[in-house]
Amino acid sequence: MLPNTENLNNEKTDSTDFIRSTIKEDNELNTFEGKVHTRFPPEPNGYLHLGHAKSICLNFGVASEFSGKCNLRFDDTNPTKENIEYVNAIREDVRWLGGDWEDREFYTSDYFEQLYEFAVELIRKGKAYVDNQSAEEIRTTRGTLSEPGQDSPYRTRSVEENLDLFQRMRSGEFPDGYCVLRAKIDMAAPNIVMRDPTLYRIRHASHQKTGNRWCIYPMYDYAHCISDSIEGITHSLCTLEFVNNKELYDWILNALEIYHPKQIEFARLNLTHTVLSKRKLIQLVSEKYVNGWDDPRMPTLCGLRRRGVPPEAIRNFCRKIGLARADSTVEYNLFEFCVREHLNEHAPRLMAVMDPVKLVIDNYEEGKIEFFDLPLYPEKNSFGTRKVPFARELFIERDDFRKDPPKKFHRLFVGSEVRLRYAYLITCQNAVYDEDGNLLEIHCTYDPQSKGGQAPDGRKVKGTIHWLSKQHSIPAEIRLYDHLFQSEDPNTAHEGGSFLDDINPHSMTSVHGVIEPYLASLENGSRVQFERVGYFAKDSDSTETLPVFNRTATLRDSWAKIEKKQ
Ligand code: ATP
Ligand code: MG
Repeated sequence: MLPNTENLNNEKTDSTDFIRSTIKEDNELNTFEGKVHTRFPPEPNGYLHLGHAKSICLNFGVASEFSGKCNLRFDDTNPTKENIEYVNAIREDVRWLGGDWEDREFYTSDYFEQLYEFAVELIRKGKAYVDNQSAEEIRTTRGTLSEPGQDSPYRTRSVEENLDLFQRMRSGEFPDGYCVLRAKIDMAAPNIVMRDPTLYRIRHASHQKTGNRWCIYPMYDYAHCISDSIEGITHSLCTLEFVNNKELYDWILNALEIYHPKQIEFARLNLTHTVLSKRKLIQLVSEKYVNGWDDPRMPTLCGLRRRGVPPEAIRNFCRKIGLARADSTVEYNLFEFCVREHLNEHAPRLMAVMDPVKLVIDNYEEGKIEFFDLPLYPEKNSFGTRKVPFARELFIERDDFRKDPPKKFHRLFVGSEVRLRYAYLITCQNAVYDEDGNLLEIHCTYDPQSKGGQAPDGRKVKGTIHWLSKQHSIPAEIRLYDHLFQSEDPNTAHEGGSFLDDINPHSMTSVHGVIEPYLASLENGSRVQFERVGYFAKDSDSTETLPVFNRTATLRDSWAKIEKKQ
């Protein structure tokens, strides 16, 4: 059986990656009095994606494994890009994935007053100054990797002048971009991050939490390390691009003489055929390459949920990929494997026909209907059954019949005998075509002694196909998905072009098939296996008259393999 944890708060793992080893060591040395307190710190400027899932599983998982706590903290320091829609979506997605932050939902904006006071303290200590250079001037005087930067002419302002200007920045006296507050560190520092980074900028913009209370906003780097400190985070887990920022975090916390978390970096998740950058995902949505954030082709958590991916599969995927200190790209196949692995255990088996063709059983009594009690989980009979009607006229997959069967074709052709899954053995007598040669209907006879699909004399019947009673079947729209991007790395696939050039024009096809009645009665979001076809989830676009199903994953075995062989 799969590890099937209810949520991320009862994680047990024996994994010994470098982060868990460090925490173990800290506990042994009593570094943080044996405490473990992590946080997941999204910026509410987009929806969460699979990359965030890695961070959620890590932060909530580690906290749980070491009997610690994990906060949800919205890093909301940029009012122009953030909004409440994103906040709500993030809460929903973290909870769906199994992260439970209890009453510890925090916002960097909760600390704006404290952050302001800390900035005043830095000014008082001569460690911050108000710079009136333009953004452009600040950029060009920063220097390069090989050349030091130049001191701002405003760098030597007195403490009193800085205090006065900073207060006036806050009170709204100056327009956007008029000046900034910078840390006074070292314009010749080898680490460019340390060359007097900006701590505060003026933005006359309404904030989703604080409204118009503020017109100056702290920069991410300044706010992030102090928020971690305020919350008493023991292990600040972040992705590799923050390695260079660590020196700045240390400088700020030391300058303020406040509590110091330990930062540990890990590699971001990259996935083949996928983009995991919020900026790019926003572009896909706003320029309508997809139908919204929850389009089932999106790697967002809401897109994956709608596609039918169970949270357990994502958690298991995150467990499998583990943690590394160097960037790498994970195969999409591994993700699909985890999805199949979970659905194989948990999705009931039902019948649906993607491309129906009529089949008539000539020797089956007209008007007769039999109801088969079929198991929802063929290997676990005790898990319940549903009634499936059987009649003289059926639908089967068009592709399960061949006029000119290739070698080793074990399904229907004139003269062949196959098993109708769970029902009867039938032998194909003839097929009817229209004048253009299109198959109209197939005629068969059945062996009344073979009820359940077993030959009474034990004769071998290799092929098994699925079916539906024509009169009882219900039309459905079935959406089949493929990779949204054609290349393994959409970002580099098109020299001189963009990732948008790599979009797969066939990433979604919609077919009109038929399903058994039980499927139509399921709630939206239910995950099932269509026997022999794949895993599907009922979509929220379903109506009373037209159920809609999304293909979550193919079965890969059965069909695909058989098709390839021929
Ligand atoms: P993007 O680059 O897509 O805009 P971000 O890192 O700016 O993402 P945040 O909202 O700041 O987005 O991310 C919240 C947390 O999720 C951060 O701690 C970040 O390190 C982590 N995270 C984001 N993307 C990934 C990823 N691909 N793999 C692992 N962790 C990630
Ligand atoms: Mg970020």
